[in-house]
Amino acid sequence: MSNTHGTARRALCAAPLALAALVALVAFQLAPAASRAQDDRAKNGDRAKDAGSVQSVAPGAPRRNSEVARMLSEIDARNVERTVRKLVSFGTRNTLSVQDNPARGIGAARDWLYSEFQQIALGAGGRMTVEKQSYTQAAQPPPRGRVPKDTVVTNVVATLRGTQAQSAARVYVVSGHYDSMCTSPTDAECDAPGANDDASGTAAVLEMARVMAKRQFDATIVFMAVAGEEQSLLGSTHFAEVAKKAGMNIEGMFTNDIVGNTTGGNGVRDRKTLRVFSEGVPSNETEEEARTRRSVGGENDSPSRQLARFIKETSDLYLKDFQVKLFYRRDRYGRGGDHIPFLERGYAAVRFTEPNEDYTHQHQNVRTENGVVYGDLPEFVDFEYVADVARVNCAALASLASAPARPKGVGINTRRLSVDTDLQWEANAEPDVAGYEIVWRDTVSPVWTNSQWVGSVLSHTAKGMSKDNYFFGVRAVDREGNRSPASYPRPVSGQPRPQPSPQRTPEH
Ligand SMILES: [Zn+2]
Repeated sequence: MSNTHGTARRALCAAPLALAALVALVAFQLAPAASRAQDDRAKNGDRAKDAGSVQSVAPGAPRRNSEVARMLSEIDARNVERTVRKLVSFGTRNTLSVQDNPARGIGAARDWLYSEFQQIALGAGGRMTVEKQSYTQAAQPPPRGRVPKDTVVTNVVATLRGTQAQSAARVYVVSGHYDSMCTSPTDAECDAPGANDDASGTAAVLEMARVMAKRQFDATIVFMAVAGEEQSLLGSTHFAEVAKKAGMNIEGMFTNDIVGNTTGGNGVRDRKTLRVFSEGVPSNETEEEARTRRSVGGENDSPSRQLARFIKETSDLYLKDFQVKLFYRRDRYGRGGDHIPFLERGYAAVRFTEPNEDYTHQHQNVRTENGVVYGDLPEFVDFEYVADVARVNCAALASLASAPARPKGVGINTRRLSVDTDLQWEANAEPDVAGYEIVWRDTVSPVWTNSQWVGSVLSHTAKGMSKDNYFFGVRAVDREGNRSPASYPRPVSGQPRPQPSPQRTPEH
């Protein structure tokens, strides 16, 4: 990620190889016994240790990067609170509200966010640019639409450019929506504090930007506050459509929406869990892909789901006292979010939301009835929790933007019936790619349970492991041990690709 922090990384990489071999061996022994092939790998690990062979040493289990840990420690709940309270102070941020009053309405919120991102960009060494991305939304009159008259919708977009030539065009987007609503989505005058929905997500994004803008990453990260979400995902749809038309390579998108309330309407208080929603069947699946899926499965292996698994793995690595919980659905019942326009355009995307919602504090006019306080007020936001949500996002974004792209052209060979599994993939373009890892799991497992380093090759045969009995994936690993999310293979019937240069081993 940052070339200014190479010392720490070199220190990590300088761990004696014998120790790395031991770690790899212990990892093998701790992993659940899944197959005969795995036992064979453990024996190979023994042989590697005996021989002192560098070539056979796997990268080992993913490990914490001290610079990522430092970023997480810099995320500060007090900044989150300041942002939430400032956004609430604009009275309403309804997309239809006034845009030219410096004290009230969505225009004031937009300008404040823009100046905040600009301040952050000052510390980014010229790598961050901030823009107001505006367009005029044509009227979509009620009752079907939520835009009575033509309305300018503005996203505030801060782009932190990647520093590796081969990765700078690879983009990760993280967003919150800064618009809000009271009971009526078309009431532009009522107070709509929107402290949780979604000043919380916006504040998380701003805080991530503050911490991450000082660092360098291989790939590009877009920090975004969008408008028009409550009007039916207008701002995010505009961004995603512009990106699609421009051919932008967005490899992952996170929306943070309703990420600040830790006491649910069910009375459950939970400050240590975050829901991550990801779709199983891609929204843009083709009929041919659907036929394959019906035949051999894969409904649980969309790029969005691989992204969600990556987020959980990363969070587990860095945040010991906080649980990312995967939800295998696109969103909650009757609800939507800013990830959906991205999904519909073929981009992998997930949604973060608190574990237990309280509907008395969402989309409500501020009032007290029978002793119950309604309204999305700051006193119902747990700022420490929002900071933890920002940490989950930051750990995943930093890891994604430091790692190679997920492998492309990944295929599982179906040209013959075989007790082995033949996998193939295309070479990554990044110069620091050390090689590839195969991951697999039982077909009923929710997450990847096993991995094997296979080196700098473009195909691999998993001996004695039938493709009928496991789900496989491939991920790229760089010389610092950064791993991409897994790519799920498609059936192919061609010959395996020729092998490239002899394998290199990651520097561990
Ligand atoms: Zn929302």
